Amino acid sequence: MKEIANALRSSRRILMSLHRQPDGDSIGSTLAVALGLRRLGCQVTVATPDPVPHAYDFLPGVETIVPWRDVAAAQYDLVALYDCADERRTGAPLDLREYAPKILNVDHHATNSRFGDIVFVDPLAAASAELAHRTLELLGVTVDRDIALLLYVGLETDTGGFRYASTTPESHRLAARLLDAGLDPGEVSELVYERQSVGGLRLLGLALESLRLRPDLSLAYFVLGDEDFTQAGATAQDAETIGIVDYARRLEGVEVAALLRSDGPGEVKLSLRSKGQVNVAELAARIGGGGHERAAGATIMGDLAQAEEVLLQLFTGL
Ligand code: 5GP
Ligand code: MN
Repeated sequence: MKEIANALRSSRRILMSLHRQPDGDSIGSTLAVALGLRRLGCQVTVATPDPVPHAYDFLPGVETIVPWRDVAAAQYDLVALYDCADERRTGAPLDLREYAPKILNVDHHATNSRFGDIVFVDPLAAASAELAHRTLELLGVTVDRDIALLLYVGLETDTGGFRYASTTPESHRLAARLLDAGLDPGEVSELVYERQSVGGLRLLGLALESLRLRPDLSLAYFVLGDEDFTQAGATAQDAETIGIVDYARRLEGVEVAALLRSDGPGEVKLSLRSKGQVNVAELAARIGGGGHERAAGATIMGDLAQAEEVLLQLFTGL
């Protein structure tokens, strides 16, 4: 971590990036570090491969995030990534080396490919926000209300509101310190979780109707096609925000829940959630994805029927 702080401190122009379909932890941890670095006088660009979801549009600094197409090559001293498990997750149009001579990779996904020059992966951290906080401490940046809000949203969303098994006493200690900076947890959750679209809720309804059960595999899954998105009037972003897959994990007797949703022509996004007996990060990694033991994902090339076949093959091999 000291090496990371030194690399950041000694760089003037720093490029950061969110990951594809950015979540609260990607946005929160990246922007917290960006804000801290800007205060130290660094020039920081935050790029994104996909737009920031509406649920996070209230966060300080989101207005500074730019699409990758606006980022020029060879203009930076350092690329600093938080929460990006592999290079492709950044969605950068060019090899990261084209942007800067040095790459820093800080993450909490056990499946992280360990790309880059300075790599810090801590799978015991419940969120990359915990690692962003440690970075800011080492940089001597004061955690004010804005930075606290960013870190809290990262931590709160990646722990499922402090419910997932990844939650540690350390997560709660950090949360307490962040709340001490003047945050109202009720207000923050309302902003994150209670500004959803009607389309998203209708999509959830269609997903629930699509439920497929495989008691022999302790598996329950939902399937959403393009026509479901059209019928619900929902976007891919709505599907992310509403947390559809979690509903299938609630079932008694289910060990793994999955969601297959079409994500553009010939591409299906798979989300996996486990109660703990099955390591879904390992399953997702077999088909080019990754994540955590209990929450992982992958992109499958093909139509929904082919993706369903891929999913079932992953489980019949267990
Ligand atoms: P979700 O199902 O919510 O999209 O993702 C669950 C977890 O798996 C997250 O931690 C996310 O970063 C990771 N994940 C999702 N899709 C991919 C993927 O295609 N590749 C990798 N490496 N990780 C993924
Ligand atoms: Mn993430």
